[in-house]
Amino acid sequence: MQFIDLEQQYARIQAEINANIQSVLESQKFINGPEVAELEAQLADFVGSKYCLGVSSGTDAILMGLMAIDTKPGDAVFVPSFTFIATAEVVALIGATPIFVDVDRDTFNMSAQSLKDNIEHVKNNTDLTPKAIIPVDLFGLPADYKLINPIAKEHNLVVIEDSAQGFAGAIDGVKAPSFGHIGTTSFFPAKPLGCYGDGGAVFTDDEGLYDIMKSLRVHGQGSHKYDNVRVGLTARLDTLQAAILLAKMEIYPDEIKVRDRVAERYSANITACKTPHVPDGYSSVWAQYTLQTNDRARFQEALKEHNIPTMVYYVKPMHMQPVFIETAKQSLDCPVSAELSETVFSLPMHPYLNDNDIDSICDVINQA
Ligand SMILES: *Cc1c(COP(=O)(O)O)cnc(C)c1O
Repeated sequence: MQFIDLEQQYARIQAEINANIQSVLESQKFINGPEVAELEAQLADFVGSKYCLGVSSGTDAILMGLMAIDTKPGDAVFVPSFTFIATAEVVALIGATPIFVDVDRDTFNMSAQSLKDNIEHVKNNTDLTPKAIIPVDLFGLPADYKLINPIAKEHNLVVIEDSAQGFAGAIDGVKAPSFGHIGTTSFFPAKPLGCYGDGGAVFTDDEGLYDIMKSLRVHGQGSHKYDNVRVGLTARLDTLQAAILLAKMEIYPDEIKVRDRVAERYSANITACKTPHVPDGYSSVWAQYTLQTNDRARFQEALKEHNIPTMVYYVKPMHMQPVFIETAKQSLDCPVSAELSETVFSLPMHPYLNDNDIDSICDVINQA
């Protein structure tokens, strides 16, 4: 059994993937081929955003968002402590200060109360200027935008949605990543919608931000190739990856439905650990199916004995990472993030898990 089974997915769409790759090889348009614009139009339409740009990775997507709003040293950017390093890393990379916000124990996502407390704390106790919030749609579930967006508005903060794990998760039928001023996602192979290398995308309804990010993507390009109007990046999505994603988009809506069925079957059968909570009106794309228990080692060992792989996302929250220990002194404490890093573990999750496999995983857990 595999943790994420990309082989079965490839077997299903091999003809389409191979034909799309072949077509790029024949056109030789490896950079900015027509597949890139075609994919961007499809993704924008699917998400319900006005604009989409294919980019080089989910990390670069967040970086471009921060650059587009002119984030600079002295700015505070609020990120959850319980996330993948990239969310906080890009903030520090451009010289701004990540402020670590605690998360909700049930959804794993940024806590609106901790966000409010940290904004007040930064305003009253530091020289930093609050600039932006990067909520993460962790494990595939959109963050609590119903509470976070009004807080952002009240304090005049930009929301950059990190939906690397949450592409097309939804709140009341509206899809991620369309909840922030800028939305980002990743097409790293193991993400719910993955390519065969590195890739990502940014989304926005704001034409001004779109124009800036389009320029940032190619060395701060102005009106033509050798006109450079700002310091930028080389952050394009390459044509081969776009061609692969076009084939995968054909089955993605179906895969999301099946992922949800897998999660439902897990949750209906697992009694020995705390199963994930999806609030009313929300839907997850289940990048991870994550349990909580005070006896993680026992369950992981029992599953390992049956050759069932498990993973821990994340063993260390951001505020306890060596790289951020000093920085974290400017944030309030994050006790829930610290606790979750001791209690969570994730089960195999992909659309090609069959009912027998799911049931045997549940049995091993309940009997451990
Ligand atoms: C994977 C991930 C990223 C980074 O995406 P890459 O494409 O690997 O650069 C950023 N944030 C979160 C929450 C992620 O899971």
